Amino acid sequence: MQICEIINVGTELLLGEILNTNAQFLCRELAAMGISVQRVNTVGDNPHRLREDFLHALSRSDIVLLTGGLGPTQDDLTKEVVAEALTLPLEEDAKQMQCIKDFFAVRGLPFSQNNRKQAMVPHGCTVLYNENGTAPGIYIETGEKVIVLLPGPPHELQHMFAHALAPLLQQRGEGVIVSHHLRTMGIGEGRMAELCNDFLDSTNPTVAPYAKDGEAYLRVSAAASTKSQAEDMCDCTIKKLQKVLGNYAYSIDKPLERVVLELLHAQNKTLAIAESCTGGGICKQLTDLPGASRVFGWGVVTYADEAKQNLLNVSRETISSVGAVSAECAQEMARGMLARSGADVALAVTGMASPADDTEKPAGLIFLHATDGTQHKSLKLETGRSDRAYNRSVATKQALDLVRQLLMI
Ligand code: ATP
Repeated sequence: MQICEIINVGTELLLGEILNTNAQFLCRELAAMGISVQRVNTVGDNPHRLREDFLHALSRSDIVLLTGGLGPTQDDLTKEVVAEALTLPLEEDAKQMQCIKDFFAVRGLPFSQNNRKQAMVPHGCTVLYNENGTAPGIYIETGEKVIVLLPGPPHELQHMFAHALAPLLQQRGEGVIVSHHLRTMGIGEGRMAELCNDFLDSTNPTVAPYAKDGEAYLRVSAAASTKSQAEDMCDCTIKKLQKVLGNYAYSIDKPLERVVLELLHAQNKTLAIAESCTGGGICKQLTDLPGASRVFGWGVVTYADEAKQNLLNVSRETISSVGAVSAECAQEMARGMLARSGADVALAVTGMASPADDTEKPAGLIFLHATDGTQHKSLKLETGRSDRAYNRSVATKQALDLVRQLLMI
């Protein structure tokens, strides 16, 4: 398997001014081509450090891919540094020069002498012509090694990768890597990893646990010579993991809201939602998906106590005795929503997104209830955190999972 190292050039990356989305894009695309990215390095616009890192990368990798620093200004130095390090002279590429002139002419802009710099390419390289900008990409083969330079702007880089670079790299790839995510809810990363411990040391497929947005995932990656072989290997491991994790594993790759929507659709059921602390977030997640109208018709945000009483028939006694943030209130909200909407399933959420002065109840105390009139599922969350966005996001996820659990009874 070909080993690749990526060097992203740009001081703005090191200052935290922009996110390194080029690295993410390239890692994903190269993995899919069966090229193993083993290091990603970010270096500022400094020729000495860039030279040092480039030569180091070249000594240990088959492919070194650099991004950024191909612009027309003095601080854009990637091409110059790489050409000097490889002792390749820079020479003008007539076609690239014409491309740059055309680029300016079409836009009615004056041609700047600075742009001449962008038509200079290392001797013997393959030029990757840029259809979206003036900086050409560069592809150099020296013996067994490949060096690639791509422009920094993501739309230029992505287009060039797909249309010019991928066909060249494909000839060198020795297979494909396929990855899938087995997604779980309600178990936590630690316990999930404990249950799947026997799989975590395997080398092909690899199984890696990680947590994201209140969920725990297992990433299963297989390398093989064809996509279908790699898919079969992933499939086999995922089936074993699903056996171990049971109902905690709710999907392969698919987001939770999509799973809930599909379950409702398959069971020909409708859902209505009454929200308080999530402020409509659950309804938004569902209605972000096409096809939501087939299963979702009603949602209300009953933020104030009176709204809960007037719209959902929550009793005055409940509010005055145990308060709006209580299991009883969540249950009454769900019951009221079911009656009012005529839906098959109703979901309700009430809780403390942030600390408040007028109650002793802590931030992160959230009650959820789902019912179809016969079966019920309820949950009390105690996140212990004052982070409003976090509490609302966890409540939204858990609420959707509660509906999933109810539908699976
Ligand atoms: P230009 O001709 O625009 O100068 P360039 O090849 O010299 O292109 P840079 O100057 O390094 O590229 O970056 C241009 C812009 O591209 C940056 O300001 C930034 O918006 C974006 N960019 C550069 N590198 C990255 C990266 N790694 N991830 C995301 N965006 C990036």
